[in-house]
Amino acid sequence: MAAMTQAHVLAGEDPAAVALAAEAIRRGEAVAFPTETVYGLGANALDPLAVARVFEAKGRPRFDPLIVHLAEPGEIARYAHAADAADPRVARLVERFWPGPLTVVLRKLTLIPGIVTAGLETVALRMPDHPVALALIAAAGVPIAAPSANRFGGLSPTRAEHVVRQLGRRVGIVLDGGPCRVGVESTVVLLAGGRAALLRPGGLPTEAIEEAIGPLEVLPDGPIGELAALSPGRQAVHYAPATPLELRAPDSPVRPTPGERIGLLAANEDGRRTAESVGGPFAAVEVLSATGDPVEAAARLFEALHRLDEAGVGLIVAQPVPERGLGRAVMDRLRRAAAASGA
Ligand code: AMP
Ligand code: MG
Repeated sequence: MAAMTQAHVLAGEDPAAVALAAEAIRRGEAVAFPTETVYGLGANALDPLAVARVFEAKGRPRFDPLIVHLAEPGEIARYAHAADAADPRVARLVERFWPGPLTVVLRKLTLIPGIVTAGLETVALRMPDHPVALALIAAAGVPIAAPSANRFGGLSPTRAEHVVRQLGRRVGIVLDGGPCRVGVESTVVLLAGGRAALLRPGGLPTEAIEEAIGPLEVLPDGPIGELAALSPGRQAVHYAPATPLELRAPDSPVRPTPGERIGLLAANEDGRRTAESVGGPFAAVEVLSATGDPVEAAARLFEALHRLDEAGVGLIVAQPVPERGLGRAVMDRLRRAAAASGA
């Protein structure tokens, strides 16, 4: 990719800005835009060269497939196998949860280029719940393939400035829609060929999905688990702050040696108090949610990690959160960040 000057950050609520971004998408360029989950780096999903630019800007390996963003549920039938598109469970989920943080993985039609799906026979589809994202997709007139707008392996962006920091010289336009409401990526469910399996916990609690369509298969994770074959990107190092991160219970004493700077990511106010009474002092402290509300914790997760990264600490100690509702997505991201640190 040609070296670029700094990205233009444009107000997402300005229709002229959305029109400019939509033209860039139609020209085959990549554009960063807000969704309710995290910021995405999008390109025309039907143009393999445009999609290649997204991989290049992110430094994302080609085995990691992208989610295709749609402006309306009716578009599913254009890109997915008729039998999957007509599956009543798909209809039920889409009716209840679209637009929203739910991605469905269905068998794809040939219209979707192989680069989008990393060669898989399935395609991931989602309708985001954000007016700027929906306006952009509608104005572009094409589905938009978009991963999170960060360098590969890095922290997902939940504000326009996070995108600028990581991709500022690799993308022409960043539409600014303010902070993301949900703050973690979408929940990904495989519904191809009659299956119903959780591929990634995310912004829609799995409990809500199971209430709508019954129990989901939980696939074994790890390098040789079935998850690796069905959703290749899940194997890669992901969601990691630049600083090493370690998961530790609040009552496990953490004592910095003289001159050592450690950051604390507390699950709640009690957790912060406990950690500070049995250990510390900490060079920087972030509390995910004072009351331990999992929705608030998810919304703050990446923001808090971005701030700890910038605080110049040598280690982030993160407290586990209960794995209920959005807590499952939070723990998934923290575990992967810890694994990436080798801590
Ligand atoms: P990101 O856009 O960065 O949140 O990553 C998208 C993730 O969605 C990938 O890393 C996969 O885990 C999952 N995904 C996308 N497309 C597919 C697919 N066709 N089959 C299974 N998982 C997928
Ligand atoms: Mg990502």
